[in-house]
Amino acid sequence: MTTDTAHAGTIMHVDLAALQNNYRKLAQMSLPAECGAAIKANAYGLGMEQCATALWAAGCRIFFVALVDEAIDLRKTLPDAVIYILNGLMPGTAGITAEANARPSLSSLDEIAEWAELCTSRGTRLPAAIHIETGMNRVGLTVSDIDTLHTHPDLLDQFELTLIVSHLANGEIPGDVMNARQLEQFNHLRSLLPNAPASIANSPGIFNGSAFGFDLTRPGIALYGGNPGAENSKNPMQPVVRLLGTISQVRTVPKGETIGYGGTWQAKQDSKIAVVSAGYADGYPRALSSMPDLPDTRVWIDGFFAPVIGRISMDMITVDVTAIPVEIGHRGDHVELLGPHVTIDEIAARAGTISYEILTGLGSRATRMYSCDHIKSED
Ligand SMILES: *Cc1c(COP(=O)(O)O)cnc(C)c1O
Repeated sequence: MTTDTAHAGTIMHVDLAALQNNYRKLAQMSLPAECGAAIKANAYGLGMEQCATALWAAGCRIFFVALVDEAIDLRKTLPDAVIYILNGLMPGTAGITAEANARPSLSSLDEIAEWAELCTSRGTRLPAAIHIETGMNRVGLTVSDIDTLHTHPDLLDQFELTLIVSHLANGEIPGDVMNARQLEQFNHLRSLLPNAPASIANSPGIFNGSAFGFDLTRPGIALYGGNPGAENSKNPMQPVVRLLGTISQVRTVPKGETIGYGGTWQAKQDSKIAVVSAGYADGYPRALSSMPDLPDTRVWIDGFFAPVIGRISMDMITVDVTAIPVEIGHRGDHVELLGPHVTIDEIAARAGTISYEILTGLGSRATRMYSCDHIKSED
């Protein structure tokens, strides 16, 4: 351990080489479609600047963010990337979107009108995507919107339609009837619009077969090591994130004593308890607290699993290390809260949520470390 991390409660390691390997795998699977990257929400919490740089070096050229401010940030890192804004065009943001050389994913007739107006006023056909509604019923043009659009053909002429997108609702359940229905609707609505490249596959979509590939895929969670498949299926991706906590002390708790808030865990024997500097303020959910009818949350300490016991508090957790060898798990040692041994999907399932929410909640307080050693450009 370096002195740099001695002050840290939690350390978040982001393995950029693993991120690149995941990108290459998804890009290979997407062929003949091109593979982009969803990098919204600060690259799912892992750090947009570092992740964008690594993905660009691995050959990624098309990036998806949610918000115009994210596009503005990303543009500083990647001057030549194609950037799409998935949430659409918020009122009054057409100018700054164009300034950032970003492409809105136009998701309603109002958004199309606003983008067309900007293009007209600037006398240039700026690129944009159109999002079409195929079953998610959040954003996107419906059949009747497209009918309306056909009565104003001049609107579509004002800008350059570079992509037609839609989004899968049940992609992680291969063979789900919803996927086939969305695919059919996607093809139908696309046929009513001018010819343009198409994209429907997020990470799970890439694993649903080549019919979902179209011209461009846009994975997010699989890049960052989350399982793109159904719960409990084998994860084909490499882990990218490791969250480490630091043992602040190891103490003996006599049989019969309880530990932590609410006294929810009682020692059945004299127990050795490691107190770890990490808590829900680090994005380690309070829902991971030990419960009588749920399996114990595990941490990994130098080759051994140990159960988290009692309540997760804001800044500390307690781990029962009675059963692990005495030479392991001392003051100042790191424990893996999440990483290659304790996966984000395991943690998410135990906390009653999904890997996306775990990742995006992590590490606002952690000391971040990026392993950039083996990053190689492939230009
Ligand atoms: C977030 C997002 C993606 C990426 O989805 P993953 O499931 O993380 O691969 C793709 N498309 C849209 C529209 C999104 O909002």
